[in-house]
Amino acid sequence: APHPHWLFGDQLGPHFLDPRHGGPDDRAPVVMIEARSVLRRRRFHRAKAHLVLSAMRHRAAELGDRVTYIRAETYGEGLEKVRGSGPLTVCHPTSRRALEFVRGREGVQILPAKGFLVSHDDFAEWAGKDEAEGKGQGKGQGRGQGKGGGNLRLEGFYRWVRERHELLMDGDRPAGGRWNLDHDNREPPPRGQDTLDVRGPWRPSEDEIDEEVRHDLDRWERDGEVAFVGRDGPRLFPATRREARTALRHFVAHRLAGFGPHEDAMLAADPVLSHSLLSAPLNLGLLDPAECVELAEEAYRAGDAPLNSVEGFVRQIAGWREYVWHLYWHFGEEYRHRNALRHTAQLPDWFLDLDADAVTAHCLSTVLAQVRDTGWTHHIPRLMVLGSRALQDGWDPAAVTDWFHRCFVDGYDWVMLPNVVGMSQYADGGRMTTKPYTSGGAYIHRMSDFCAPCAYRPTDRTGEQACPYTTGYWAFLHRHRTRLAANHRTARAVKGLDRLKDLRELLETAADRGDTPP
Ligand code: FAD
Repeated sequence: APHPHWLFGDQLGPHFLDPRHGGPDDRAPVVMIEARSVLRRRRFHRAKAHLVLSAMRHRAAELGDRVTYIRAETYGEGLEKVRGSGPLTVCHPTSRRALEFVRGREGVQILPAKGFLVSHDDFAEWAGKDEAEGKGQGKGQGRGQGKGGGNLRLEGFYRWVRERHELLMDGDRPAGGRWNLDHDNREPPPRGQDTLDVRGPWRPSEDEIDEEVRHDLDRWERDGEVAFVGRDGPRLFPATRREARTALRHFVAHRLAGFGPHEDAMLAADPVLSHSLLSAPLNLGLLDPAECVELAEEAYRAGDAPLNSVEGFVRQIAGWREYVWHLYWHFGEEYRHRNALRHTAQLPDWFLDLDADAVTAHCLSTVLAQVRDTGWTHHIPRLMVLGSRALQDGWDPAAVTDWFHRCFVDGYDWVMLPNVVGMSQYADGGRMTTKPYTSGGAYIHRMSDFCAPCAYRPTDRTGEQACPYTTGYWAFLHRHRTRLAANHRTARAVKGLDRLKDLRELLETAADRGDTPP
């Protein structure tokens, strides 16, 4: 008889049990372990704990007699309970910690990773070639490519994935003749509208499994066994394969066409805009990225969605998501401790507790409330409102990473590390991005409707109404002046800093805020 196969809680789709491409035998009994210590280790968002447990228990219900579902304190303890049955197989886990754990167990055979388009070997081949080609040549490959190849930039990787997997290709040319349509996808929100004209996203309804999960979480919380942040509420993200497929089809049919233009825009009353809300089911393994991009391409080929929207969506999934996954492994364990800017401030309590009501700045208070209530916001609030606040105020990047990991429904070690340490906090000193992502209030004003009702003014650098993003931006440039003056992508901003007549007053304004919420 085949060995039992252990399914982690983020390996829930059918592809993780598919015997093809190195998967387990299709008669293999399945083991799932719900380890309480995972919840105890960190103060997760309540909605995230709910989603993961609900998804695991739904999967167990589907697998019926084939699965042994074990509730244990730790994975180790759970495994002891099934040890009698001998060796196990498991698909390559998604975190270093879990990988080390399975590597350290005798008789556990690790099968290839699933749930990504690009295998570890193929990535290594690309990275090796990119690094070799990049040495000393000055050939740029578009936005984000920096001085040349060899930097493992997204754009080169993305094009390689498109070619290799024949995604949106016409022969050996990109569909429509251009690789990158980002330029069409940075529109501010439509003026005078507080929501986008687009059909709302698909949302699930809860069932008795959710009820049981809610009951358990209430009890553990009451007994002081675990503590959560964020509010409980109806489950908002798919917990089963069927729900995930419905959400994907609904997105492609009704929302994909408008995905592109307002991808970076923010509206207080419409946090989702045209975003897909598929990160949680993708990261739970309920959807495979291949089916997402294939369905999107079909919509383009059928004339149902324009290229800029489809290319934008394919870029997110076949580009960014794959790139981040591979960088996580490529950068190694020490990446988690990188702190190139030497930021050491602790996260303030109002941020840790998601206390949106304590915050005056309308952008930050709105976004923090979205996180508190749903465990999700789209990429620009994460990068330019939350992450930018942390960067400007010099918060410890490892603590910021931990915060994102705990508070977001789609947060996992692999996806958080590059996105927060690299992309958002520039703590890797530029291995992932060519410059730190932060801005003054002017960017937020242009891309959102947050500023009109705000007590601060994006143009004010000093005084009572000084926007904390504007003062924070200049204070950040000032603090890292030497480093940023030497970077060709930020040198001009530093020149702007030199022209400020009120810099000293501005720095006082920024310092005066101290620990009070902005
Ligand atoms: P859409 O805008 O509809 O994009 C489609 C899909 O592309 C997403 O579902 C996601 O699977 C993928 N994607 C796009 N960008 C990225 C990226 N940078 N990394 C990984 N996948 C990407 N994404 C996570 O899945 N988990 C995280 O913990 C996470 N943390 C982030 C932290 C910061 C500071 C930043 C700037 C980004 C983070 N992202 C993370 C990426 C991105 O913000 C989310 O994937 C996206 O907002 C999820 O919403 P959506 O499904 O509607 O995305």
